[in-house]
Amino acid sequence: MKNTIEVPTNFIKNIIIEDLKEKRVSSVVTRFPPEPNGYLHIGHAKSIWLNFSLAQEFGGRCHLRFDDTNPVKEDETYVEAIKEDVKWLGYCWGEHLYFASDYFEKLFEFAVTLIKKKKAYVCDLSPEEIKKYRGTLTEPGIPSPYRDRSVEENLDLFYRMRNGEFEEGSKVLRAKIDMSSPNLNMRDPVIYRIIKKPHHRTKDKWCIYPTYDFAHCLSDAIEGITHSLCSQEFEDHRPLYEWFINELIDTEPKPKQIEFARLNLTYTVLSKRKLIQLVQEGYVSGWDDPRMPTLAGLRRRGYTPESIRRFCELIGVGKSESMVDIAMLEYCIREDLNKRALRKMAVLNPLKVVIVNYDEDKEEMLEAINNPEDMSQGTRLVPFCREIYIEREDFMEEPPKKFFRLAPGREVRLRYAYFIKCVDVIKDENGNIVEIHCTYDPETKGGNAPDGRKVKATLHWVSARHAIDAEVRMYDRLFVKPDPTEDEKKGIDFKEYINPDSLVVLNNCKLEPSLKDVKLGERFQFERKGYFCVDKDSTNERPIFNLIVPLRDKWSKHAKKTNK
Ligand code: ATP
Ligand code: MG
Repeated sequence: MKNTIEVPTNFIKNIIIEDLKEKRVSSVVTRFPPEPNGYLHIGHAKSIWLNFSLAQEFGGRCHLRFDDTNPVKEDETYVEAIKEDVKWLGYCWGEHLYFASDYFEKLFEFAVTLIKKKKAYVCDLSPEEIKKYRGTLTEPGIPSPYRDRSVEENLDLFYRMRNGEFEEGSKVLRAKIDMSSPNLNMRDPVIYRIIKKPHHRTKDKWCIYPTYDFAHCLSDAIEGITHSLCSQEFEDHRPLYEWFINELIDTEPKPKQIEFARLNLTYTVLSKRKLIQLVQEGYVSGWDDPRMPTLAGLRRRGYTPESIRRFCELIGVGKSESMVDIAMLEYCIREDLNKRALRKMAVLNPLKVVIVNYDEDKEEMLEAINNPEDMSQGTRLVPFCREIYIEREDFMEEPPKKFFRLAPGREVRLRYAYFIKCVDVIKDENGNIVEIHCTYDPETKGGNAPDGRKVKATLHWVSARHAIDAEVRMYDRLFVKPDPTEDEKKGIDFKEYINPDSLVVLNNCKLEPSLKDVKLGERFQFERKGYFCVDKDSTNERPIFNLIVPLRDKWSKHAKKTNK
């Protein structure tokens, strides 16, 4: 990874600096632990960035570990997709790819050790009874009637659980901690349950599976993780994390769990459970639909890994949860592409303009700048002839006061070309404008008048004779509400707030001919419009572009107006 930027100071980095200084640890080992039950989203990117860049900055290492302890929801296709996403973000786990399922045997042994220490027992209560016995925040729990089984009986039952002798839900293994602890997680939590489903890696070998709380901390210990960074919702689980480690691990340094605030983004949802609904119920075309906040979606949309890493740096790492404005993410991609995307002219809603005093047979090549932010990217030639396209919205027959673009009798500049003046408007029998007629001033080649006269607008355009036909998919935010889950308490589902205009397909777009042989994933700025990326649905005959982000943030204007 060529990321040379330091991680900005944050409380986790300070803990690490302190641990190294006090020699509590001699190196930094972190991990990113996804559960392979869905695709990664931009929230995961925050965790990936934090874990990998901290390890990198302190010369340590970061593991990629699949937390695959629940065979019911997990799948191999997610494993591959997650690996691809982490690599794409620019991070490398080297040889440190692990699976919690590789530790099943060791975890089983740890459980046996706990039983032998009289710190775990097999419980026959049903899941509902366990819940009832657990008590509440204000009432202590009631001990299970099976709590005082002998070590021998527990070992016998636990081995028979492993051998498949009992039905799902009929028995669990529980840690024996404290039924009156103020922390509910400490009231004899379940550490093994019977699940008679094959696992995507261990197949039929197991019919009992460890719970997250049991497997996670011990996997950290097995791998020598020093700093186990997770999101805030695990704070209440930390005493349990530490309990298992203290009971079962003698080696130092013991892994330390540190929680940070998860990322929430406006106008989207970042929960796999919700994202999977959007996919399965057909609200989007798939996990990589360019409107999805998944890394696969953002990649297809045209986001760069650099822009996402930059975003992670900017939002910072804290302890209190907040909503980050999606405009910040959009700012990061604009900033990145402004420096490197080649400028092109593309007309998305074409209106034909005939330049009546331009010779029918004539064609000329005009020089256009590839990137005014970086002149080293050079220039290109764009063809000009008698018939061109401009955007329909750049012409108005009866322009209101503040409309400075083309109108009858008015002169405007065509970018890199000439001044043109509208002399006629041609309509069909229904009164719809079909084309407009203009004259051009040959003296204004390149876009300036020798007599110094000014025009108030510069339009982009494409030569009709040379244009490439394309489809452009205009994407907008997926939801109309900053927090689509806000009304869940009132029983209103987040999907009620899907933006009906989040995808508008324009299928008659006209592109300048230099866009002829574009490749999948290439990004451009279409002048005056925004940044666009070549989509995987493109064919040789017909490129398809995704809008990554418009040049300006129309939502901030809207938010100001409505004072939101
Ligand atoms: P979701 O809530 O979307 O289902 P998850 O937490 O169940 O996500 P995991 O695969 O368990 O998904 O997550 C892997 C890691 O990514 C965990 O360490 C988790 O804390 C972190 N993570 C998940 N979502 C976010 C988020 N929005 N912001 C920061 N970190 C996150
Ligand atoms: Mg999780």
